[in-house]
Amino acid sequence: MSQPKTAKELLDQLGAKWSPDFDAYAAGETSSPRCVLCTKSPCTCPEFGTPEYLALLDKRHGRRP
Ligand SMILES: [Zn+2]
Repeated sequence: MSQPKTAKELLDQLGAKWSPDFDAYAAGETSSPRCVLCTKSPCTCPEFGTPEYLALLDKRHGRRP
């Protein structure tokens, strides 16, 4: 039972699940890294905090409802 309650907690939980393109982005090789959640570029995530967003977050964490 550790449902995140704040945006910071959500980000903390993401932790190492950063964008797969982040290294390239940091190195200046791409200006549009894929989103860590939806893996799309540009990002197609639902609005932050919505049930759809939280469901996507759970999916990325490999959780089951
Ligand atoms: Zn996204």
